[in-house]
Amino acid sequence: MIIKDLFINFCIISTFLFFGNALFRSVRSNPRISPFVFKMLTGVFLGVFGIVQMQFTFKLDNGTLLDLRQIPIIVATVLSGGMAGIITTILISIARLWFSASITGVSFLGIANACITFVIAYFVFRTKPSFRYKWFMTALLSTLNSLLIFLLWTGFSKRTTLILFIVVLFSSFIFTYLLIERLRRYNKIYDAMSKEVQFDFLTGLYNYRGFTYKYNQLSQQKKITFSLLLLDIDYFKVINDQYGHSAGDAVLAQFAEVLCSSVRSFDYCFRKGGEEFAIILEHVEEHAEAIRWAETIRQNIQEHKFVIPDGRTVSMTVSLGIGFYPLYADDELLEKTDRALYEAKKGGRNQFCIAH
Ligand code: GH3
Ligand code: MG
Ligand code: MG
Repeated sequence: MIIKDLFINFCIISTFLFFGNALFRSVRSNPRISPFVFKMLTGVFLGVFGIVQMQFTFKLDNGTLLDLRQIPIIVATVLSGGMAGIITTILISIARLWFSASITGVSFLGIANACITFVIAYFVFRTKPSFRYKWFMTALLSTLNSLLIFLLWTGFSKRTTLILFIVVLFSSFIFTYLLIERLRRYNKIYDAMSKEVQFDFLTGLYNYRGFTYKYNQLSQQKKITFSLLLLDIDYFKVINDQYGHSAGDAVLAQFAEVLCSSVRSFDYCFRKGGEEFAIILEHVEEHAEAIRWAETIRQNIQEHKFVIPDGRTVSMTVSLGIGFYPLYADDELLEKTDRALYEAKKGGRNQFCIAH
């Protein structure tokens, strides 16, 4: 019977943690949802988790029921902070009273247990040691707390129940820890991989895939205006030939830094490939304004002293093509801006041309 209850409870823990993780990762990435609302939502979600768990109690013996409400309280406090923990604790406490046929001393002990669990989790997780240490310290203290309440109520007479109590509670803490650790590891790998997919390793800028994604995203919006700058370093091959490939890499990384520092913090800079770059300047629709940005970039590059690995400095210039959205759209904008860049190259380099 206990094994069956454990299986059901472990399934509930897995379901809530797995879907909660997926759901809250997408909620957190939504800029319209503030951290405050996010914490409220996690608190409520884990409160519901606790209430569901309270419906699947373990029958340890004829008179003793155990549920795992400590787990959502600890998870909320640990992963989302004190406020989320308090909300989860309050919801679970209200449910505890609500579902009681009659409010007795046991109901209040149940609430006291929930509150003490929150206090333990809150204070243990403010300390420095590793996540694993803190989790098991919280688990230990929380089990001791539940045990104390249990003994207060039943005394030492129910030895077998006492052992079952400890086994169920502690195995649930271990199971939840393993699950959270797994999810945290997968989240880390997933984040690193999605970053790698869209970002260029050498310069830290968006790569070609990131460019295609952002370009398609922006050029599908009807109300938006932007100018597109396509850039190509002049005679870059000479750097590789004269100073070596690592010098070329160092120049590319510094080139990206100059680009980013030449535009506004919210503009998008991309390395399309090799020594070709792109910039999207949102809300820049006036030709004069785009020209000002292009000229600033061209000058900053020309004046910058690029340091190569042996300590020497080299100078570079850049050619640019400028195109405007929605004056041109989709592939036409890319083609025309690329042609403008080609004209800038043909016209002598270290200059810009406008798409026409
Ligand atoms: P142009 O003024 O006509 O643009 O001349 P260019 O030499 O800049 O252009 P070209 O296309 O002939 O050469 C580009 C060079 O960029 C060739 C390639 O070896 C080099 N390159 C591309 N990617 C990298 C990279 O990641 N690191 C280094 N060091 N060089 C790269
Ligand atoms: Mg090129
Ligand atoms: Mg080039």
